[in-house]
Amino acid sequence: MINIHPLYSSSSGNMFHIQTNKSNILIDAGVSYKAINEGLKSIDKDIKDIDAVLITHEHIDHIKGIPLLCRKNDIPIYACGKTAKLIEQDLNEKNIKNNVFELNYGQAYKLKDIEISPFEISHDAVMPCGYRIKSNSNTLSFATDLGYVSDEVFDYLSSSDFVVLEANYDITLLDFGKYPYPTKRRIKGNLGHLSNDDSALTISRLYKKRSKKFLISTFK
Ligand SMILES: [Zn+2]
Repeated sequence: MINIHPLYSSSSGNMFHIQTNKSNILIDAGVSYKAINEGLKSIDKDIKDIDAVLITHEHIDHIKGIPLLCRKNDIPIYACGKTAKLIEQDLNEKNIKNNVFELNYGQAYKLKDIEISPFEISHDAVMPCGYRIKSNSNTLSFATDLGYVSDEVFDYLSSSDFVVLEANYDITLLDFGKYPYPTKRRIKGNLGHLSNDDSALTISRLYKKRSKKFLISTFK
């Protein structure tokens, strides 16, 4: 069994909760520590239940709650190499005792009844990743904040029963919207975000493979 709760998903903060038979993990903690606790409470969980936090990348809407979370708890934080180093450095500068572990793209790590495999995604961060999470016979893949779906990303997603994928913007609304041109160019670029059309196309390709359940992560 893998259950997923999208507790926060927006440009002001992201955090997903994943539960298996024996584990509770968070993917990202990009909201205040107060909001982390409130989100967990809304699904009858407590911060003490959390076995680990997996971080996708270092943008503030993905790591905002980490310092206080580490100050008040002894929960391991996992992130890919350079991202982990940045987080660890920040915590050390704030004199916060921490347990930050560096992951490598493409390797599998065992965590209680979960196997996690980070994979490379394209985004304007130091070492951004998506995660494939296996528990017993269930596989879930998680890819938010990516400029495009590479063949490698597609392989990870297509070997999963359940896929969490971003659908970040409508191309026309973005083109005629209020953002300044450089922001529009960043969002649309290969290091930005997936449009609704890109996401829909990817899901239609995935549906022909193994994946039959999707959670679309949208942003404002
Ligand atoms: Zn980002």
